[in-house]
Amino acid sequence: MLEIRHLTKIYRPRRGVPVKALDDVSLTFGEKGMVFLLGKSGSGKSTMLNVLGGLDRFDSGEMILKGVSAHAFKQQELDSYRNTYVGFIFQEYNILEEFSVGANIALAIELQGRKATDEQINDILRQVDLADCASRKPSELSGGQKQRVAIARALVKNPEIIMADEPTGALDSVTGRQVLDTLKRLSADKLVLVVSHDRDFAERYADRIVELADGQVIRDVERESEDLPGEEGLAFDQDGVTVPAGYRLTEADREAINAYLAERESGAVITPRGGAKARFKETDVARLAARIGEPFRLIRSKLPMKKAFAIGASALKYKKVRLVFTLILSVIAFTLFGLSDTFGSYDLVRACTDSLRDSNVRSAALTRVEIKEDDDGDTYRHSVDLSDKDIAQLQADTGLPFTGSYAPGWMFDRPLTEQFDESVFAATDAEKKEGIAFHHYAGRINGFAEMTAEGLQDYGYTLVAGRLPEDRDEIAITSYLYESFHKGGYRMPDAPLNMAGQRSYDKIATPNNMLGRILVLGGREFSVVGIVDTGFDIDRYEVLTHVTDDMPMADEILYFALNSEMQNEVNYGMTCTAFVCEGAVAAMVAEAPYYELDDGVMLTDDEGEVYVNGFQVCSLSQIPEENILWFGGKKTLGEKEVLINAANIWEDTSEWTAAEWAEYVDRDFTMSTYYYGSGESETGWKIVGCYRFFDLDPLNGIAMALSDADLERYSNGRVYDFAVAPMPEGRALEALVSYCYDESDGVRNPLNNSACFELDILDGVFKVLSAVFFWIGVFFAQFAGLLLASFIATSITHKKQEIGILRAIGARSADVFRIFFSESFLIAMFNAVTASIATAVVTFFINFFFRSEGLLVTVLHFGVRQVILLLVISVAVAALASFFPVRRIAAKRPIDAINNR
Ligand code: ADP
Ligand code: MG
Repeated sequence: MLEIRHLTKIYRPRRGVPVKALDDVSLTFGEKGMVFLLGKSGSGKSTMLNVLGGLDRFDSGEMILKGVSAHAFKQQELDSYRNTYVGFIFQEYNILEEFSVGANIALAIELQGRKATDEQINDILRQVDLADCASRKPSELSGGQKQRVAIARALVKNPEIIMADEPTGALDSVTGRQVLDTLKRLSADKLVLVVSHDRDFAERYADRIVELADGQVIRDVERESEDLPGEEGLAFDQDGVTVPAGYRLTEADREAINAYLAERESGAVITPRGGAKARFKETDVARLAARIGEPFRLIRSKLPMKKAFAIGASALKYKKVRLVFTLILSVIAFTLFGLSDTFGSYDLVRACTDSLRDSNVRSAALTRVEIKEDDDGDTYRHSVDLSDKDIAQLQADTGLPFTGSYAPGWMFDRPLTEQFDESVFAATDAEKKEGIAFHHYAGRINGFAEMTAEGLQDYGYTLVAGRLPEDRDEIAITSYLYESFHKGGYRMPDAPLNMAGQRSYDKIATPNNMLGRILVLGGREFSVVGIVDTGFDIDRYEVLTHVTDDMPMADEILYFALNSEMQNEVNYGMTCTAFVCEGAVAAMVAEAPYYELDDGVMLTDDEGEVYVNGFQVCSLSQIPEENILWFGGKKTLGEKEVLINAANIWEDTSEWTAAEWAEYVDRDFTMSTYYYGSGESETGWKIVGCYRFFDLDPLNGIAMALSDADLERYSNGRVYDFAVAPMPEGRALEALVSYCYDESDGVRNPLNNSACFELDILDGVFKVLSAVFFWIGVFFAQFAGLLLASFIATSITHKKQEIGILRAIGARSADVFRIFFSESFLIAMFNAVTASIATAVVTFFINFFFRSEGLLVTVLHFGVRQVILLLVISVAVAALASFFPVRRIAAKRPIDAINNR
């Protein structure tokens, strides 16, 4: 079944002369029987066995396995050959010290693609007298026991050939004999090749002896008689000791004889028995060659991933200190990488999302900015109000219930500060005297917005006192505004002075005290029916009260920034809103005395002289008939016809007659909008009349009256300062934020609140820092990767021998890789998971720290990206760091790896 022809093997050491270890050897082996390869040390026995077992290559000649020439075998096929047919037993046992006895045996079974059961393992261990040893570690076993584990490992594969290289060399003679007895038993139906230099053992056990000297076969004989000579060994009787022919005394025999002699008074006679010295004859090679046996079929080793994993994992237990040390280092390095990347991957949208979430901003207040090109082709940003259409668009785009906040200019004709004592907020006496104060209390409302009970819930607001408005003349104010009255008292704007000639204020001790009070806004009286807490953190801005003239510059800048932030908060969002009932805003818009345009308008004549200009216009229907003077007898406004404010004509027109006005009739004017010189101009406008108002009338400053169609054209229906909706959560929040930063359609709807305000200021700084941290991250990634890689690579290199052993028992390099990769993979996973957790925790604390310092921005975002990066880098490093060393070692001849060459 196994044949070599003219086989030559020459060792070419790097230094010294080449050694011809096998020199033109031809041999044929049958399918069973015990064959001894006998010879002196250095005669080439081990070389022969290694070549036969595919552990080593030969230089020339041929090896034929079951009729198949192994000449063209690749390394992988040699692995499979061993896996399928050969059980190896080494002098030095070569069992894997890191696995239990059972695991060593199970591995051999599993490499053949079979499942290893406890039963099977215990069974094979019983056969080599090692019952109950399955869970023991090799280090706890004696040499003889280890050798028997090695035999069990060879046997369990049920190989057709067993190869044993000096299996008894390291054992005492009794144990050695037990091992040979076992092998002899196996040779009944297997080919057992035993390398030995012990002629007595050979003659005692061999069915055939092949003797080598200097790499050549010098004798090849087979046993003539089947019965073993001297099987009974020494026979003791009255007369003395009978010794079989050709028998050589062993150490045990010597002891037995000594014991025998010690019992006797006289000496003993030693009688040679039989003279039947074992007879060997020239081996009949032709007979052997005729039998090929079962056809040649290889089993490729196939170690299940799960098993590879278990083996790899169990191996970790053996180098705890180094492992712990490396892991601590690499976790730190990977965490630093994770942190750097957390900052390095800074993204405005995400930072904004996080900041809004962490700052608990409850209302999404969106303004509208149009991005336009001016006449020079430069883009500019143009803030405009929102129309009902814009708000409908926002609702459609975001799916959020946006509503407009209406803040017409006429609302501020009488400042709210007339209704409480502003001087109590003054920080200094001088301020008090002047009546102006730099403070953080509300001095006004920022608009009217409708609010319902569900709305309150959606925003997460609470009603502190009273109820929501039900009537158009009712409002609910915010706690923030309430605080102003709580501090500064309350009065009606036109309340008479007290006896001392001073204004007197009612004390507002509780929110309830504010209910039923009248606020005068835009000349209209509103009754306060409720107080709503919008969660505004007034204390955050408390420091603003301490602003003094001689503050250090740094403080001044800080306070300025803080004040800007607060103004932003107060101007937009619900912090300062007057809540009204449903339908009230639409009614107010309809009843507005005039319109405010985003872009002012002006009317010029053909010489470019401005006749009238302004941001406020109205419709004809808003002007009482008695205030109008029609020039040419017209009584209505057509397209491109206007009435102008008489106050805008630069001459005293109070005494003008219709005739004098007539000079305007039929003259062509140009209407232009003005904004950065990008405004549009239209010629062909006519002035068909004028109107006049008196002081204090809200219409007094209105530039002109237009026809309803032109008014619509110029105002675009834009009446709302901002649109507001409850701030969404989770994914919807992120979607809203990216919508708010999107300007692809030439419009941006920025979010307005303190957190966004801060972020927009810091964004530029963060972008620069983030680029720096990106590269720091890249550095740490490399550092961490190298650290991990070097640990894995060294620990694999230390396992060269183990890899050789695995190969010797039939594992392909792919299996070996799987085992070692499993081990590395576990390290990598542990590393990645721990580093992820550490990064998350540190990120949390850094964010927490900044927040506790008053920053509303959540800068660091630890997310899926970092987890994936940490995992991918760790695992990739583990894979590469396992792959290359394993490949390098696997490319070696298994015997070299085993012998650590
Ligand atoms: P044996 O097993 O009979 O003692 P070996 O097969 O181990 O003999 O060795 C045969 C010859 O080859 C010896 O001269 C030995 O020194 C030489 N040899 C064995 N292995 C190597 C090796 N790896 N490199 C160089 N020479 C070797
Ligand atoms: Mg040897």
